[in-house]
Amino acid sequence: MNYRVNEKGYYGDFGGAYIPEMLYPNIEDLRNRYLSIINEPAFQAEYKDLLKNYVGRPSPLFYANRLSEHYGAKIYLKREDLNHTGAHKINNTVGQIILAERLGKKRIIAETGAGQHGVATATVCSLKGLECVIYMGEVDIKRQAPNVARMKMMGATVIPATSGSKTLKDATNEAMRDWINNPVDTHYIIGSVVGPHPYPEMVSLFQSIISEETKIQLLEQTGSTEPDYVLACVGGGSNAMGMFYHFLDDENVKLIAAEAAGLGVNSGHSAATSILGREGVLHGSRTILMQTDDGQVIEPYSISAGLDYPGIGPQHAHLHKVKRVNYVAITDDEAMQACMLCSKLEGIIPAIETGHALAALANIDFKKDDVVVICLSGRGDKDLDTFMTYFNL
Ligand SMILES: *Cc1c(COP(=O)(O)O)cnc(C)c1O
Repeated sequence: MNYRVNEKGYYGDFGGAYIPEMLYPNIEDLRNRYLSIINEPAFQAEYKDLLKNYVGRPSPLFYANRLSEHYGAKIYLKREDLNHTGAHKINNTVGQIILAERLGKKRIIAETGAGQHGVATATVCSLKGLECVIYMGEVDIKRQAPNVARMKMMGATVIPATSGSKTLKDATNEAMRDWINNPVDTHYIIGSVVGPHPYPEMVSLFQSIISEETKIQLLEQTGSTEPDYVLACVGGGSNAMGMFYHFLDDENVKLIAAEAAGLGVNSGHSAATSILGREGVLHGSRTILMQTDDGQVIEPYSISAGLDYPGIGPQHAHLHKVKRVNYVAITDDEAMQACMLCSKLEGIIPAIETGHALAALANIDFKKDDVVVICLSGRGDKDLDTFMTYFNL
């Protein structure tokens, strides 16, 4: 089975570039040049240097002794929460900012929902001295004030999206409009493995550092590069693609992706795309998304802002369809309890997004010596208000 992108930008039935004609020149330029730029030795040297000395990689692979005892398997945490800015998102923005420089771009735009991708983008723009414009829904700006403040401190301009529901999808539309109007000097940094080709492939390449390191660390710590299970949570799917990337062809390694079931898969307040979704086009690619019978996108819901997305990236749609990855749905309550358990047993407070991956452990029938790797996609500091309210702390 082939899990990689083909020449036309498809993973099986999914992917492609469904974009307005006005965006063709931008996307074509990127598609024609991204691979040769990324493969230049000088690019790789700078990328690896920034990952090491700025982001703090390699992130540790930590054997979680007490979680292991609790679940009856050998559980390893891939600590993306220890990266600069507190999650995996910076792996992608570091890669794309070096690419943008080499494309001769002077100005960066991005969309953000909860603000995590906005912060990761503002961070690398500050590092490189490039102008940074972040589009964010007016409602999200009010809900995520600390992240807005972070972006402003690092010199970014935050522009409110005031149309529609004033949230992520409206911010995405505004960013697209900006790019159409500024095709020559501007690069658009998308924050997950979504969007038109080549974005899903490019972002998964930058995130694949996660599984590249994990294999080396597993060999050192267990004597084998092949664990029994690899788990990650899925919003758009970038930390999961990074975590799965180098394991896709190891057919003995079971891959499990946790989606947000919100208040329950059939509650009407959910983001469990692979169960509820159908094939269609979202944000420039053919994928699986939650939509009504007449094709209107259904508003997703999750307690975690990072999983609150109505689709999944096209690679995930393919991996789901060919059954290489098992997609499971985890409720708000399950994720919150898993965050508490990890905090109590390991002294590590994970992001609520990550809590979904941790909660999936409870539903697996492990053998005692099974080796399990979980992508600890981010730290829980940003979620403290939610924890305080939920657990009455
Ligand atoms: C944004 C985010 C996610 C979800 O995004 P993916 O593209 O699916 O990885 C998951 N975990 C954390 C900590 C995040 O910040």
